[in-house]
Amino acid sequence: MNDLTCLIIGGGHAGLAALQAIMETTRGMANGRRIRFVLLDKQPGHVRKVLLFRPAVSGEEIMIPWTHWFPEGVEFVQGTVTSVDSGEKRIRYTNAQENEARIHYDLLVVAVGSIVRRPDPDQGGIALTDPQVAAHIRERWRANLQKAADERNLKERKRLMTIAVAGAGISGIETSAELILAMREEASRLGLNSSDICVYLLNAQERLFPEGPEKVGRKLDRTLSEIGVTVVHNRKVIREEAGVVTFSNGDRLAVGLCIWAIGLIPNPALRSMGLPLTPEGQVLVDECYRVKGAPGVYSIGDCARIVDPRTGKADQMTCKEGGMQADRLGKIVLADLEGRPAPVHKSYKDLFCIGLGENRGLVWTRQWGLDMIITGKLGWKARKLGWDLASRLR
Ligand SMILES: Cc1cc2nc3c(=O)[nH]c(=O)nc-3n(C[C@H](O)[C@H](O)[C@H](O)COP(=O)(O)OP(=O)(O)OC[C@H]3O[C@@H](n4cnc5c(N)ncnc54)[C@H](O)[C@@H]3O)c2cc1C
Repeated sequence: MNDLTCLIIGGGHAGLAALQAIMETTRGMANGRRIRFVLLDKQPGHVRKVLLFRPAVSGEEIMIPWTHWFPEGVEFVQGTVTSVDSGEKRIRYTNAQENEARIHYDLLVVAVGSIVRRPDPDQGGIALTDPQVAAHIRERWRANLQKAADERNLKERKRLMTIAVAGAGISGIETSAELILAMREEASRLGLNSSDICVYLLNAQERLFPEGPEKVGRKLDRTLSEIGVTVVHNRKVIREEAGVVTFSNGDRLAVGLCIWAIGLIPNPALRSMGLPLTPEGQVLVDECYRVKGAPGVYSIGDCARIVDPRTGKADQMTCKEGGMQADRLGKIVLADLEGRPAPVHKSYKDLFCIGLGENRGLVWTRQWGLDMIITGKLGWKARKLGWDLASRLR
């Protein structure tokens, strides 16, 4: 029998895990057929998206070469997929040299994820969208502190030492917590008073962490305030212009930099790929992640609308959920190849890990109707473990 080609588009948290899971369950063979694995991604390596704030804070490298996980047995192609022709079973992509190319597949996993939501261009500020922008953010706040060290005007110095993070979801919380610690360290190094550093976390909602109970939101508030972050609730940012943030109620705040952290949207490139989508732009799949009307095509992660058939609950855009989907997809693909009934999607329990700067973290989960909360150093250890598990580094 002929070899099969299993093509994974997107080596983010879900695609990487899917490739590992499918390789493991099929172990290169399915009904006597060998499987050739190809990973196609527009990046030259896996971007640890959950750590996107790190290059903005410390300059940490968050891209890892594919060969770290797959020293052999996988072909890597760098390119941007433009369309999927499910009738002909091939995809079109633009390769790293900007040439059009095609690849035939027998099995296809679409895991092109999401992008960080951007405000309108006239709203100013900088959205934390990718590692390059993150590095630019770091340059900006460091340059501001450098200027502040020579600034005699107290008001201007204060402005240069102030940052606003607009958007208080988990990434806004983690960004502001790590930023204040890094900025204070840099301020001390420059001979500035580190307690003059101000990081505002601007929340359009009533409280932090609407995904869980109020007491967890309060704990987060308390820890952030202990490390010096000023959390402002019920304040919607309209724009940042010339160093002034304007709120919907007309209030204003002078800042050296405004960082937007306003969530994720499904990858807009999906709109022209030719796959069936929800109105919000996620790929339509069945309870086994099979794309509707496209034999041999599966989709998981942030780019797919995945619903638990028992409860009707849709998975959120998180790598914890993407990772669980990937593990199940390995078993589904094998079952489909062998013509057996495949496992069906089941949503994962509520579990959140939040980093609050070195040695501070918070984990919340609900078990048997009870809230379980871990904080402090243990919470931080769990948070670090979560980051590593998301990129299959443990
Ligand atoms: C700052 C931040 C913090 C976060 N923190 C957490 C957290 O603490 N916990 C949590 O569970 N989730 C967190 N998330 C969400 C989490 O990052 C996503 O749920 C996760 O990245 C989804 O994985 P994915 O593989 O589906 O998509 P992505 O990680 O978006 O990966 C998509 C991959 O597809 C590639 N790609 C895209 N388009 C194309 C194309 N046309 N052709 C070829 N390749 C393409 C990309 O290069 C990328 O490698 C965070 C997100 C951000 C931005």
